[in-house]
This record gives sequence, C-alpha cells and structure tokens, in this order.
Amino acid sequence: MTHAATEPQLDVIAVGAHPDDVEIACGGTLAKLVLQGYRVGIIDLTDGEPTPGSPGPHVRLAEARRAADVLGVQHRVTLDLPNRRLFDTFETRVALAREFRRFRPKIVIGFGDKTPMASPDHWQAMQITDAAVFYARLSKWDEHFGGLPVHHIRHQLYFRLAFEPSTLGGYASHFTVDISDTLDTKLASVACYETQFPPAKSHVFERIRGAAIVAGTAAHCQAGEVFVATRPVLALDLVRHLSE
Ligand SMILES: [Zn+2]
Repeated sequence: MTHAATEPQLDVIAVGAHPDDVEIACGGTLAKLVLQGYRVGIIDLTDGEPTPGSPGPHVRLAEARRAADVLGVQHRVTLDLPNRRLFDTFETRVALAREFRRFRPKIVIGFGDKTPMASPDHWQAMQITDAAVFYARLSKWDEHFGGLPVHHIRHQLYFRLAFEPSTLGGYASHFTVDISDTLDTKLASVACYETQFPPAKSHVFERIRGAAIVAGTAAHCQAGEVFVATRPVLALDLVRHLSE
C-alpha cells in the first residue's frame, strides 16, 4: 500500500475544540516550548463558528492564524468537525488520529475534564483526544488512515482552561510549567481573537493573568500553567528533576 504523506515530526501537539481554547489553556507553555527549540502544533477540532461576535469562519480562522504566529508554533490545523455539535464518534476519533499519524507528536496535550456552564464540546474533545491517542498506534487498520504509518504517542497531558480550578481530581501527577517569560505572549495570542474578546470582555485578560499568577505563586515562580500527567511522571534523576 502506498502511504499517505507524513509531515516533519512535531514534539508537541495541543488539541482544542475551538480556536482560542489552546491559547487560554496552555499558550504560555507552547510559546516557551518554541523558544526552547521544540516543534509545536495546534489542532482545533472545529472552526468555532458560529459565535455571536464573529461575522463568519473566515474571520475566526484569520484570528487563529495570527494567534499561532504570535505563539510561534510551526503548524496549526483546523479540522472540519461541527462546532456546538461535536461528538465523540468513530469518525471524529479517526479524523484526529490521522493528524497524529501525520505529525507523529511525542506529547499530546488536551482537555482533561468537563467544563460546566461552558461549551459541552470541550468534554467531547477530551474523549476524542483520548481515543485518538490510542487509535494512532493501532496496527492492521490501514484502511482508516490512508496508509499512514502507526505512531506511538509517549505522553498525554491534560490542561485546564485558565478560568477553572488548577487541579483535576483523581490524578496524582500535577505539575506547573513556569511561563513567567511567556505570559505576555500568551495574552497577546488570546487578544488576536478580537471577535471573541471585544473591549466589553477585557476582564478576560485580567482573569487569565490572575490565574497564571496564582498557579505560579503556588510553585514559586511568577506565572505558571498547570497540567495533569495521565500517567505518573517518572523522575530519572531526582535532583535535576526538582532543581531545573
Ligand atoms: Zn472552547
């Protein structure tokens, strides 16, 4: 079988349901990874439209492209799945797993819980991402992936939207990434979504900044983003692990 084209490998892919999810949840970490020389991608499962303040998908997509440029990420992919009607189905799992096989990330970051009072797409995105991480490595299933080779993702992390509690119940391994140097970049990436955060919603930026400061303070740095490791994190050298 001829294999469908793969892309240059990425170190990290962050998955959101809508353009702006990833920026709000982990934009500081993604910008930092880029500065550290890693190759980073974003996959939005939907184009996020319709929304009340946007004239249409072309505007939202242009905002998403600008936000990706601000963060410096190498790739941004917007899948053609339906906003507000996103569901964990076989087809949506395969659509995301196909991207994982194309870009072969070492680490996948995505939603880790329900977001009550906000879009139910987020909870579906978590389930789709969980399944796609698994589907990416399944052999003897080439017919669903255009011949793209299998890929084993080494680590999966969960993020939280910045407005929500920074810990997830039931998981032992929470950790904080120091985003002191990239918090402003994160906020600048969120500001690219002018249709979502007009002047009347300027409080959002203070909340994102405040959440980062609270998370950072708890870990003795100026600003942070908290993640959950879906499996316990292994410390190969305890001193380096805790000192760097
Ligand atoms: Zn969202």
